[in-house]
Amino acid sequence: MSTTLTAEQYLARSIQLATANVHNSGGPFGAMIVTADGRTFDGVNRVTADHDPTAHAEVTAIRTACRSLGTHDLTGAVLYTSCEPCPMCLASALWARIERSSSPRTGMTRPRSASMTPFSTNTSRTGTGTNCCRWPSLS
Ligand SMILES: [Zn+2]
Repeated sequence: MSTTLTAEQYLARSIQLATANVHNSGGPFGAMIVTADGRTFDGVNRVTADHDPTAHAEVTAIRTACRSLGTHDLTGAVLYTSCEPCPMCLASALWARIERSSSPRTGMTRPRSASMTPFSTNTSRTGTGTNCCRWPSLS
């Protein structure tokens, strides 16, 4: 019997994390990182509880995964989140090289497109490169 969950089950788990977090003085947001080899790392919103404006669920999940794995590179990982990632979380996921994200609003995972790799494909960070600082397509 396989213990691998489906995307829908990971999304449901992120929502469960969000719900439980409210009872732990946190905001109603949860996220999970699932690595390419199936390891999972949870994150919940701790903005008000920890007085940390960057402690969104996605960021805390990325921090936990990176610290646990001893790397900043989560290539091949998928981010499941209870809410559409904000620009900070999306940028954090890009910096962590997360492959895809999924939230209840999108309803399915989105493949990482070429436009979602502005920093790794840039030849210039001065604003003159054609891909410099472009936001990924949200369609
Ligand atoms: Zn966020």
